[in-house]
Amino acid sequence: MKDIGGVVAAVRAAKRPMCVFDLDSTLMNTAPRNWRILQEAAHIYPALTPFVAKLTESDMGYTVTDDLRRVGCHDVDLLETLHEFWKTRFFTNEYVVCDRPYPGAVAYVRRIYEAGALIYYLSGRDEPGMGRGTRQSLDAHGFPLGERTILHIKPAFSMPDIDFKRAAFDDIERLGGTVVAVFENEPANANAFKERFPESAVFLIRTITSLNPSPLRSDVIPFTSFAEGR
Ligand SMILES: [Mg+2]
Repeated sequence: MKDIGGVVAAVRAAKRPMCVFDLDSTLMNTAPRNWRILQEAAHIYPALTPFVAKLTESDMGYTVTDDLRRVGCHDVDLLETLHEFWKTRFFTNEYVVCDRPYPGAVAYVRRIYEAGALIYYLSGRDEPGMGRGTRQSLDAHGFPLGERTILHIKPAFSMPDIDFKRAAFDDIERLGGTVVAVFENEPANANAFKERFPESAVFLIRTITSLNPSPLRSDVIPFTSFAEGR
């Protein structure tokens, strides 16, 4: 398979097809969530205001403190305060509903679903803090949810990512279907999927990544927008 446009046909041809989708920065743009938190912080800590004024929602990257540093905010105490403020909000039901699907993402996942695939949403979000908001948001935006879909998120916030990833791989394998395609934004995760499921097409959407991303395997296929899959 060369591009995300080939997935529907591959789903139709496969026995018990399934596709795996990461949420944050793959299907969902987290910029509105970060932006809302930053605006609220500026209300409470006015020293942030001149820096926030130099930013827009589309400037939101992986961490708000880095976004502020880029526009000249270097007050260590202020940045630390903001980080604490951000941490207590970002990973919550109330704020996760601010996320917006990337262009074409809903239509793309629906097309794969309607072609017969089981949709496996996989995310390091945690059930106690973000489960309700995640389901609410997927449903509100029109992503398939319910029958023939699985939402696999962390049972506890403190679960290490590596343990979570291993448990998810085992779970996917145990389902026994054909993993037709996997969609990720983090090179390290995409690479790990390709290693574990070499027969699957693994795609990497070029949105944002965590700091110091790993080099991408040459057999993982990068793409820029779900709109390409039309
Ligand atoms: Mg992600």
